[in-house]
Amino acid sequence: VTVPTRVLLLGGSTEATRLARALASWTGFEVVTSLAGRTASPVLPEGRVRVGGFGGTAGLVTYLAAEAVGAVLDATHPFAAVMPWHAHEACERAGIPRLRVLRPEWKAQPGDRWCTVANLAAAAAAVGSGRARRVFVTTGRSGLEVFAAANDRQRHWLVRSVDPPGRLSLHPATILLGRGPFRLQEELDLMRRHGIDLLVTKNSGGDATAAKLAAARRLGIPVVIVARPPAPPGASAPDVPTALAWLSTTLSAQTGGGG
Ligand code: NAP
Repeated sequence: VTVPTRVLLLGGSTEATRLARALASWTGFEVVTSLAGRTASPVLPEGRVRVGGFGGTAGLVTYLAAEAVGAVLDATHPFAAVMPWHAHEACERAGIPRLRVLRPEWKAQPGDRWCTVANLAAAAAAVGSGRARRVFVTTGRSGLEVFAAANDRQRHWLVRSVDPPGRLSLHPATILLGRGPFRLQEELDLMRRHGIDLLVTKNSGGDATAAKLAAARRLGIPVVIVARPPAPPGASAPDVPTALAWLSTTLSAQTGGGG
């Protein structure tokens, strides 16, 4: 029988970075953060890091055994649609406890003019059928091509992403590179400066990028907001302290000690 010696932390979110920092001082287990490798210059978490896919569920099952993983913290981004399911299936097969770390969704507040849609294609359709002329898109650099269906000589796009979006099929467009956190005043200034009349965003949740929604509310700008993909069943934690408490209990059960 292999004795579990590692915790696998599936990364790609601010919570994952915070978890890696908090866990750096824990003893008895090595924490390995796994990144997909999509971001050109990711914020590297503390501790050991591995980069790249596992090769589907089967690859992950192999990895979990080879690395003697005793628990998995799935702190991938709320819009990671595939990895959480692979983690769920692989952990079920391997009999390894897994926790999904999933921050709460943003909720509409009085004054918000939200149109919630199921995916990016539906967001593009909502833009295309509306009359907005200056659209601020913050859904990330992947999947932007669907918005080309809403290209219109009258419509200007403002696209903000962490990495350059590559060949952009949106025109005319202005590209802004930036990584949160963003402050309310900068978001207000930006939206005013560009005359934004529609915001398109994913319902990522969290504080780092919430200011754009407050700015839209303040300026009376409508928002097309993409709902999250379905998450697999199982234990989940809304924040880092809850995740740490779960891990402590889980590791204690395995070792009779723990962090
Ligand atoms: P995804 O659709 O859920 O995953 C696609 C594939 O990428 C997975 O099947 C897996 O490949 C690999 N992968 C994803 N996360 C991984 C991780 N933490 N470690 C190792 N491999 C991983 O994910 P995505 O939407 O492409 O996002 C990729 C990464 O960017 C995720 O880690 C996510 O947390 C982060 N991110 C995503 C978004 C977003 O809006 N989607 C936003 C910010 C950050 P294999 O099948 O080969 O194992």
